[in-house]
Amino acid sequence: MATTILIIGAGAAGLMAARELSARGHAVTVLEARHRAGGRMHTIQPDGFTVPVETGAEFIHGKLPVTLALLDAAGIGYTPVQGRMIEVRKGRWHRQQHFVEGWSTLMEHLQTVTEDMTVRAFLNKHFSEDRYEELRRSVQRFAEGYDGADIDRASVMALRDEWAKEEEEQYHITGGYEKLVDYLYTQCVRQRCLLYFNSPVHSIRWQAGTVEVATTDGRTFAANKVILTVPLGVWQQPEPAIQFTPAISAQLDALRQMGYSAVIKASLEFKTPFWLEYERELGFLFSEEIFPTWWTQLPHPAPVLTGWINGPQAASFTQVLPDKMLQYALYSLAGIFGLPLVFLEQQLVGSQITDWGTDTWSRGAYSWDTLASRAARRLLREPVQDTLYFAGEALYEGAHPGTVEAALTNGLEVARKIG
Ligand SMILES: Cc1cc2nc3c(=O)[nH]c(=O)nc-3n(C[C@H](O)[C@H](O)[C@H](O)COP(=O)(O)OP(=O)(O)OC[C@H]3O[C@@H](n4cnc5c(N)ncnc54)[C@H](O)[C@@H]3O)c2cc1C
Repeated sequence: MATTILIIGAGAAGLMAARELSARGHAVTVLEARHRAGGRMHTIQPDGFTVPVETGAEFIHGKLPVTLALLDAAGIGYTPVQGRMIEVRKGRWHRQQHFVEGWSTLMEHLQTVTEDMTVRAFLNKHFSEDRYEELRRSVQRFAEGYDGADIDRASVMALRDEWAKEEEEQYHITGGYEKLVDYLYTQCVRQRCLLYFNSPVHSIRWQAGTVEVATTDGRTFAANKVILTVPLGVWQQPEPAIQFTPAISAQLDALRQMGYSAVIKASLEFKTPFWLEYERELGFLFSEEIFPTWWTQLPHPAPVLTGWINGPQAASFTQVLPDKMLQYALYSLAGIFGLPLVFLEQQLVGSQITDWGTDTWSRGAYSWDTLASRAARRLLREPVQDTLYFAGEALYEGAHPGTVEAALTNGLEVARKIG
């Protein structure tokens, strides 16, 4: 029997669920707080740029089945990311990752962990000696930089599972993630989904089989079921993002116990790719600067560098204005390349600073596992009285957490659960 379904959020999970449910003949309405679809996928072309800029998701981290199947169906191209990885330490450039004493012992110890603990506790237990200082720093840098995780709360077992994965080829979508958003959005509209933008939801009255959802401007929408794809960071704000009547305290507590990163991204276009003089095949660059991580667009020749701060470090810059962050980005490049700041300023033709931690409708970038995440996810993946369904990247169980793939897969799973 056709059911009426409300979906809160038109990001990857919401659009995927809407597409699937409308294809199955359900009446679907999507309520989105922003003026656009895509959520944490957001491609723009600011002044001064000759190429699209990914302010949010940028890579496809491997041969990810749901994402690639959608791109193939839509006829959207994607290209493998190229270039060398460079590490800059104390002003010296190293091709490949620098060897750190104890790394292989670390991997061995990780395999023997049978009881979960925080990454910090694990390091204190097995690698507290002075000779492991660099190893401890590397683990922290990696956990923060890639996963956005706080090692005082992050699960060592989750990190182990992630680090055990084979290094896979990564891809850029031709034209950016916007192409995927447009494809999903168009399919939803063709299948008669109703999508309302500028519609932040603030309260939900519900009982088994019925929901009434109210937006901040006083509109109400009724349905049999609601799918909530609101990001973790929004649920974790001091004031609950959405009021439920009756309350669902266990679920809201669970959402607060999961880990969620903050990211600041700096996209900079220059007159010339000055880095070619240092390394013709520069792909990724890891440093000890304020913006520690950078990458180029290779194989695309665009003279664009993207800087990245993640995790607790990004969170510590929340009060800093974009102009100041741009300065920090330029200082970082000046340090890495040993170039005068004025040269970089003269070279700069376009800049875009995006702080996801201060974005009202995501309050961060993506999830990571604390010691409580597994149990929290187990609870949240169960619908509440077959009426309230939580969804989104943070609710995904699988090999690609924190990604667009995770959100798409979870959106599909929830839609199939509804039937
Ligand atoms: C900087 C950055 C870089 C990333 N890089 C990558 C990458 O390279 N590769 C990759 O695969 N993934 C990457 N990710 C992660 C990826 O973008 C996310 O995992 C994925 O897009 C999440 O989709 P979602 O549908 O779960 O959530 P979202 O995309 O956040 O969608 C949720 C939607 O809910 C809306 N919403 C929130 N509150 C309300 C409300 N009260 N009422 C109505 N609507 C509401 C939001 O506006 C949003 O549109 C990155 C993320 C960021 C931020």
